[in-house]
Amino acid sequence: MTQKNYQLPELSYGYGELSPFISEEQLKLHHDKHHLAYVNGANSLLEKLAKARQENSDLDLKAALKELSFHLGGHVLHSLFWRNLAPVAKGGGGEPAGILAEKINNEFGDFQRFKKEFTQAALTVEGSGWAALGQSLDDGRLLVMQIEKHNINLLPQFKILLVLDLWEHAYYLDYKNERAKFIEVFWKIVSWSEAEKKFTYA
Ligand code: MN
Repeated sequence: MTQKNYQLPELSYGYGELSPFISEEQLKLHHDKHHLAYVNGANSLLEKLAKARQENSDLDLKAALKELSFHLGGHVLHSLFWRNLAPVAKGGGGEPAGILAEKINNEFGDFQRFKKEFTQAALTVEGSGWAALGQSLDDGRLLVMQIEKHNINLLPQFKILLVLDLWEHAYYLDYKNERAKFIEVFWKIVSWSEAEKKFTYA
């Protein structure tokens, strides 16, 4: 049985719609080139695995699985990241509502404290990586994650509700190497609806 290949998802907004926070050129490059490279990378690894199975041949599994984790992690995180953003006119920039808001208040104290912790995590990601808000599948707790590359420091059994891409490729055209500026901008176009959908009341 052949599984369907991974595909680059379309954005639910136009490339220019996040401007002036993220320019059209920056978003297009990020989505069409960088994200696509992870989609292609993951598919090529799946093909390698399938081919080795068909031929019943050996593969350097250590290397293949490491690469797969990187590319597939990149694809999944980018796919979520696009849904975590919205133009201001379409709900970007707000705070979470409903039970997710309650849970954030219970666990972090209030939204401002959560924002501070998430911002700190984002600022201090070593090299390339992500800040994420995760929810435990075991007990429902919320924790901030600091993911290195696309696949390191992930907490097992945590569902990712919200991510922020801190790779320089996410912001270098607009903000050069000034990560802090990009993080400030994120709060202006963050959209909570996807996180609210993914959050499970526990
Ligand atoms: Mn990226």
